[in-house]
Amino acid sequence: MRANLLDFTLPALTEWFATLGEKPFRAKQVFRWLHQRGEGDFAAMTDLAKGLRARLAEHAEVRPPAILSEHRSADGTVKWLFDVGIGNGIETVYIPEDDRGTLCVSSQVGCALDCGFCATGRSGFNRDLSVAEIVGQLWVANRRLEALAKEGAAIRLPGAAGASPRPVTNVVMMGMGEPLNNFENVVAAMSVMLDDNAYGLSRRRVTLSTSGVVHQLRKLAARLPVALAVSLHAPDDELRSRLMPINRSYPIAELLAACKAYLEHAPRDFITFEYILLGGVNDSPAQARALAALLREVPCKVNLIAFNPFPDSGFERPSPEAVARFRDVLLDAGYVATVRRTRGDDIDAACGQLAGQVVNRMRKRTVRIHREAA
Ligand code: SAH
Ligand code: SF4
Repeated sequence: MRANLLDFTLPALTEWFATLGEKPFRAKQVFRWLHQRGEGDFAAMTDLAKGLRARLAEHAEVRPPAILSEHRSADGTVKWLFDVGIGNGIETVYIPEDDRGTLCVSSQVGCALDCGFCATGRSGFNRDLSVAEIVGQLWVANRRLEALAKEGAAIRLPGAAGASPRPVTNVVMMGMGEPLNNFENVVAAMSVMLDDNAYGLSRRRVTLSTSGVVHQLRKLAARLPVALAVSLHAPDDELRSRLMPINRSYPIAELLAACKAYLEHAPRDFITFEYILLGGVNDSPAQARALAALLREVPCKVNLIAFNPFPDSGFERPSPEAVARFRDVLLDAGYVATVRRTRGDDIDAACGQLAGQVVNRMRKRTVRIHREAA
């Protein structure tokens, strides 16, 4: 089988080149063609010897996940559904702002953590994404956005203030899946995003969002401490365990201790806590005060997200007054608290709405267990 070059970090590609008897600087050249220029055709890599190009064509390929569909929102947001094999699809979202272009990247096909308010959680879990499938989302998004801009499509790209000449200037690992549950592949993919010979994004421009897989968070601090967002969503263990089953394994006190430890390594001196406001569930002023008291010890910002509904979720959007009241309690307590603007909801691209296509293996397994028991 031919090697998919999107699967490799630069050190891994260098090793693979060595097996072909090629020098490390050749690997670097190819890596740059691939990621800096978005080139997927070896024949176009004109500063490589013809012989090497031919051998690459024989032994390697550049195979990103195929686009199944592309949706463009009125607000400039673009969403792709990618084919990741045997009935499975994952979603990736591009969110343009004046000074940046943020790509929301998926890490798994579905998610096993089963948070009730999340469409991905509801869809079940199939498998982890490979490095090529994670990096491939970024590789394809940059190329598609460049092609759309060239065609003259009404596409919003960040202005000259963006750090990168390419459309994607920031990545958030906030798409489908729990990135820390696909640790090795996510770390390898993020190291490609950070590599100066590839996308050259700084550690502040790559944010990993986690529901709080504490033992993996401690590992991430040591391996690749990028900017961190933590999904909190409740001010106490009783409610959080109901909303997020992971809290039964890693209760709030353990999570906050890991957050504090993370800050010793993090590229920013604060953690972002995400808090979805679910109407009538976790959006009262008393809960805002409890949250303010809880976070006293952790340098942080709080990002409030009004719940984005999806069919049969069983939760409701909070009222605008409840959102404003909750934010004001936090502001009065001295926190930096923002309300996330919903983007791309006309194309189901908003937070929590990414469902892709998941052939749920968890449910199948449950069925099998039932059958065996019967
Ligand atoms: N598994 C990781 C990353 C993916 S979820 C995590 O949970 O952090 C990314 C963000 O979207 C999280 O803060 C998540 O809680 C939020 N989210 C999930 N469902 C949502 C919904 N229906 N409305 C608004 N935000 C949602
Ligand atoms: Fe998984 Fe995050 Fe959705 Fe929870 S919120 S089910 S952890 S993707």
